[in-house]
Amino acid sequence: MFTNFHTHSHYCDGKGELSDYINAAKKGGVKALGFSSHAPVPFDCKWCMNVTLLESYLDEIELLKKNHQDIEIYSGLEVDYVPAKISPSEFKQALDYTIGSIHFVEQYENGTPWEIDGPHLPFLDGLSKIFNNNIKEAIVRYFELTREMINQSTPTILGHLDKIKIQNAGDKFFRESDAWYQEEINKTIDLIKKAGTIVEVNTRGIYQKKSATTYPSPWILEKLNEQNIPITVSSDAHHPDDITNQFHETFVLLERIGFKKVSTLWNGEWKQLAFNEYGYIADKI
Ligand SMILES: [Zn+2]
Ligand SMILES: [Zn+2]
Repeated sequence: MFTNFHTHSHYCDGKGELSDYINAAKKGGVKALGFSSHAPVPFDCKWCMNVTLLESYLDEIELLKKNHQDIEIYSGLEVDYVPAKISPSEFKQALDYTIGSIHFVEQYENGTPWEIDGPHLPFLDGLSKIFNNNIKEAIVRYFELTREMINQSTPTILGHLDKIKIQNAGDKFFRESDAWYQEEINKTIDLIKKAGTIVEVNTRGIYQKKSATTYPSPWILEKLNEQNIPITVSSDAHHPDDITNQFHETFVLLERIGFKKVSTLWNGEWKQLAFNEYGYIADKI
């Protein structure tokens, strides 16, 4: 059995109704499903939920919880952290959990936030105009913002920890073995450990063919395992068909790294469940 707490839908930039994801989850052996549309933001964002939809999103999830007794359903949002504009703490009370993700780093002179995980050309544009093409400065700022978010509003789950590597295909700008990059990862892991945040192992980059590995990279997962930091496996599905995409391969990877348990919401609480390559071992719940 699997669980998945990172899923989108028509409420933001995903395809399909919430019920389509529930049906796909049931077919794919997903026993607990969390919805995590991109939270509304107070600036232009084409892939975020419109703030006018938030109430119906939450109402629909509550109704689905009542109507589907054979699957656990949870309400969440994937919330950005943009200093003085938006943070996961704003939405905590209304939800079962939050995913905190950094998609924006600094802003242009006109106040437009710079999107770091979209297409490569706008990435290059911001890198040049905001960071004078200093890639190290831009990436360090990405991880500083990640740590600021954890410090200031501690999301339940940290989303795709190293997603900025999506722009570094073929090691175009740096190597993950570079000392400065490793230092940013180490500092971030230290804070995660202190804060008690769960780290997401996100498979989307692999099935989208935008990353050869999970977010975060396997060498980072090894460090998380050494530090006993809880992880959860999710697919960041934007289509019901992707509800368990790359899960089998990822559970194999986690076994190989040496993880013994994976965190998941179960009966309303975060629990550490034993697993094998086919997901959680149901009789050990
Ligand atoms: Zn994201
Ligand atoms: Zn997402």
